[in-house]
Amino acid sequence: MTDGARTATRTGSGPAQAATHCPYCALQCGMVLRATGDGVEVGARDFPTNRGGLCQKGWTAADLLDHPDRLTTPLLRDRPGGELRPATWDEALDRIAAGVRDVQQRHGPHAVAVFGGGGLTNEKAYALGRFARVTLRTRHIDYNGRWCMSSAAAAGNRAFGIDRGLPFPLADLGRADTLLLVGANPAETMPPLMRHVTDLRERGGRLIVVDPRATATARQADLHLQPLPGTDLAVANALLHIALTEGWLDRAYVAERTTGFDEVRRTVAGYWPAEVERLSGVPVADLYATARALATVDRAIILTARGAEQHAKGVDTVTALINLALALGLPGRPGSGYGCLTGQGNGQGGREHGQKADQLPGYRRIDDPAARAHVAGVWGVDPDSLPGPGVPAYQLLDALGTPSGARALLVFGSNPVVSAPRAARVESRLRALDLLVVADFVRSETAELADVVLPVAQWAEENGTMTNLEGRVLRRRALREPPAGVRTELEILAALAGRLTDGAPLPSDPREVFAELGRASAGGPADYAGITWDRIDADTGVFWPCPDRDGPDTPRLFADRFPTPDGRARFHAVTHRPAAEPVCADYPLHFTTGRVLAQYQSGAQTRRVAALRRAAPGGFVELHPDLAARLGVTEGAPVRVVSRRGELRAPARLSTAIRPDTVFAPFHWPGAQRANSVTNDALDPVSGMPEFKICAVRVEPA
Ligand code: SF4
Repeated sequence: MTDGARTATRTGSGPAQAATHCPYCALQCGMVLRATGDGVEVGARDFPTNRGGLCQKGWTAADLLDHPDRLTTPLLRDRPGGELRPATWDEALDRIAAGVRDVQQRHGPHAVAVFGGGGLTNEKAYALGRFARVTLRTRHIDYNGRWCMSSAAAAGNRAFGIDRGLPFPLADLGRADTLLLVGANPAETMPPLMRHVTDLRERGGRLIVVDPRATATARQADLHLQPLPGTDLAVANALLHIALTEGWLDRAYVAERTTGFDEVRRTVAGYWPAEVERLSGVPVADLYATARALATVDRAIILTARGAEQHAKGVDTVTALINLALALGLPGRPGSGYGCLTGQGNGQGGREHGQKADQLPGYRRIDDPAARAHVAGVWGVDPDSLPGPGVPAYQLLDALGTPSGARALLVFGSNPVVSAPRAARVESRLRALDLLVVADFVRSETAELADVVLPVAQWAEENGTMTNLEGRVLRRRALREPPAGVRTELEILAALAGRLTDGAPLPSDPREVFAELGRASAGGPADYAGITWDRIDADTGVFWPCPDRDGPDTPRLFADRFPTPDGRARFHAVTHRPAAEPVCADYPLHFTTGRVLAQYQSGAQTRRVAALRRAAPGGFVELHPDLAARLGVTEGAPVRVVSRRGELRAPARLSTAIRPDTVFAPFHWPGAQRANSVTNDALDPVSGMPEFKICAVRVEPA
């Protein structure tokens, strides 16, 4: 099926069907849902990103719709330490409104915080930002996307003047001659994407992967660079060093389309390949082969993902790779460029419409007077009444319940008890709150701590839009109504706004919210003003920016100019620095985290799907057989991974795919297997990204 059969349909008493997209990752694979009488059947749909493919998570997504763990009534906790009990909606909403009023009267407006998610639709992300700034008047709103794409976003903004994960359609991968993936494992995280890589390989193109582990993606590569975690920046600077010494610089492009190259040239001059080999473990010959493969072909693409980005120097690491792409003249040429593989389902749209601490809709800055005046005009409020910027996600959570932090928190679409770095600390902060509200459709680990839990609709029960990893705005279409007792987040926000203010009501109809979002974004970097649901329905989505209803959208950015004041991309000189927590005698190993094919993010959803549980039943600790022999650990034996912040316990999985100085654990499981009990909360100074991908640990038999 193409996107032409796009609205939910029902003929007579026959089965309904809806052409929609997967609820999970940013590939947003096209799928068709059919009501079968005793459930919902998922079918794959031909869409430009997935071309008829789905992964195991997509095929089984409907298993949660009628799952026994599904919440269909609000839950209330009457006293600290008491049990959650079923409640009516009026009881739950009144309790929240009273709690918010009480906290704000005692501690001021910023004592209430909002925490959103990168899986929320554009309409919800927008409504959440407006609810925080206008209804609650708090500066404290941020979201879990801060822990996904924020380093690539910050690097893209400072180099290109805009942050769109892929500035070109995904199909461009198939047209490249060389694809360099840095810290990305799409063969496991978004398998249908590999169809585009297959196109590249069939045309004779080369895939090069930079990853400390020989992942499923790295095993398919023509060349695998296996650096020590945390040394990608040095590797990127060495590649640029080689390109310069070999005479591969695109001089005309650098002169005409960029600024700031001279300082970068001076900086990378010190990144001698032999020294970078000693630092990173990547052989000089592989560095040369990679530089040559990027620089001596017509079309080359460099992509990053969380492996390169989730570091306390993530912004600078991405910047080093953007510097390399600019020096080779890649951005803006068809089949070439730099991009970031966004992770969460609406990781792109979720960072454009105001649920980030420093941001207003349209990717505007909240400290920009002109942006404040425009958005305040759409919202019908005085610009001076809008709060200023808040703090990034981890700082927001870390301060909860302290004199400088919020005393009440409303969580939508997130499960920080499992997904936050240094998670035990975050859990203790959540327990210190006067009021914790969680909107979710299951009792996630965070919901288990809440004073009020609100049951929300699932993806197959709601209409709205998502923006995929290409910057393509898509339609999410409902197959069926939510179960009795369940509401959408938009309805919840509207009901709370009605209780908390006597001002203009918040709309709860998603189409109406999207139209308002378009007006609020007009003129901003992420301009949706020309996008309507009908326009999306008439094609395979619409790429932003799209300022005019009658004008074109923008599948490819940067063809003629960059959206910077002078139209040029900006080089920034960046230097390698060690991980925030170096290894030492007590903690002699590097620890890194990631995902497995059959689970998704904190696992609150996928751990409940029987087929996915069978495929990936629990956590594990991956370690090299040589390291295991030294530690006296055998395959399947329980081990402890201990850092300065906590420990995880899980069975050992022995593999030569990992370096002997590094151990790996997936982060989908709670409790004793929670990888984020161990991870480091050191933050990137620009993006606020925590250093999920490297810390110092010791491993012992449990
Ligand atoms: S790759 Fe991502 S969007 Fe596609 S089916 Fe899997 S989880 Fe869903």
